[in-house]
Parts: sequence; structure tokens; C-alpha cells
Amino acid sequence: MKRVLLKLSGEALAGEKKTGFDEATCIQVAKQVKQLVDAGTEVGIVIGGGNFWRGRTSETIDRTKADQIGMLATIMNCIYVSEIFRYVGMDTEVLTPFTCGAFTTLFSKDAANACFKAGKVAFFAGGTGHPYFSTDTATVLRAIEIEADVILLAKAVDGVYDSDPKTNPNAKRYDVLPIQDVIDQKLAVVDLTASIMCMENKMPMYVFALQDENSIVKAISGDFNGTKVTV
Ligand code: UDP
Repeated sequence: MKRVLLKLSGEALAGEKKTGFDEATCIQVAKQVKQLVDAGTEVGIVIGGGNFWRGRTSETIDRTKADQIGMLATIMNCIYVSEIFRYVGMDTEVLTPFTCGAFTTLFSKDAANACFKAGKVAFFAGGTGHPYFSTDTATVLRAIEIEADVILLAKAVDGVYDSDPKTNPNAKRYDVLPIQDVIDQKLAVVDLTASIMCMENKMPMYVFALQDENSIVKAISGDFNGTKVTV
């Protein structure tokens, strides 16, 4: 793989605590990404914001403003994880779709390519920059824009199942799953907007569990354990 887009959920960063950051988890992620970078793969990262805030859960404040807080949460996550990546020896840059003063760089395809050319990991923070979207959509959008080979979806579960494995012990995991089936069966891989963008732009996704040992590295080796969503 020449270039990949890794999506981490906010909750995954929080570990057992479910909120804020779990430093050990973030260092583990960083060490794995370093292996990919050292092997010559260019890595872009999108991080969710659920460990701090979700726009749609507020019943009182305006949705657009609630979503702005959610987008800011993803920037906090990216700044934190970017610093952890630097701690383990990588160069990084945080790019956002709107200006954040001196905190981040304004996203453009050229700015992202400049990061990769300089050997940096590029963090795509702030979602799409628009309310009523999600970091799933931002993930697919950025993957398409940077012409990634694949999206690596590191989740709490080890792939895509035909029903919830937590409640159904007979739930069947798919090894390979066409994106059309994800859309037709409304399978919860990424949200529908993101699924349709994947289908229209032929962007495959590899879904696996973040907590499985070395799962990010294994995702692009022959040792993959999860579901490949094909296009
Ligand atoms: N968000 C947004 N636009 C985007 C991406 C994210 O408004 O393009 C906001 C939204 O409020 C969302 C929050 O940021 O709830 C965190 O993003 P994430 O995708 O983790 O949220 P989830 O899908 O888990 O609610």
C-alpha cells in the first residue's frame, strides 16, 4: 500500500474510561503507525469526537452549534494524538477545513500532499467543516481527495457482522462484503452518506478491531483479521 487513510473512533482513544484519552492506547496506535511509515506507507488519519461530544445528542442547543463543538472535539483529539505520534518519533501535521489560527494548517489537497512528501503523518481534523456530517463522511471524503488505496477502519468490533455479535451469539462475520450489500442491508460500517461516497468513488474499506494485537499493521499485510468491504 502506497497511501492509506486510518480512521480511529474517539471512543477507541478513551479506552476503558470512555471519555478523554487513554495514553497507553494512543501510544500503541502510534507505534503501529510508525511501522507502516518506516516501511514506506503514507498515512493520513481521521479521528472521531465521541469521547468528548456528539452534536446530535444535545436536546437543548442548536444542532449547527452542537456540531461545531463536535468538530472542535475532533481537533483536540488530533492535536493530542499528533503529539503522541511525535513522542514515538514521527513527524506530523494537523490540517483542518477551517482556520484555527496558528494551531493547525488549512486543509487542501496540495497541503496534504506536501505533508506526505515531507514524510509526515497528516491528521485531517475538524471533520468536513460542516454540520450534519460525521467523521465517517470526512474519512471517505479525505481518502478520495488524497487518492488513498484503502480506508483502514479501526473499530471496537473485529469486522462487519450480519447482526450484533454482542446480543446474538450466532452472528456471522463477513470476510468480504460488497459495499452495495452494506447499503442495501443498512449494515453499520460507516453511515449511509459515507457508504454511498465509497461506492460512487470505488474506495474500499478494511474493518478490524483496534484492540487486536498489531491490528493496524496486520490490516495491510497478508495477516488481516476482519472484513474487507469491496467496491
Ligand atoms: N461533526 C460535524 N461535521 C463533520 C464531522 C463531525 O458536525 O463533518 C460533529 C458532529 O457533531 C459529531 C461530532 O462532530 O457528532 C463527532 O464526530 P463523530 O463522527 O465522532 O460523531 P458520531 O458520528 O460518533 O456522532
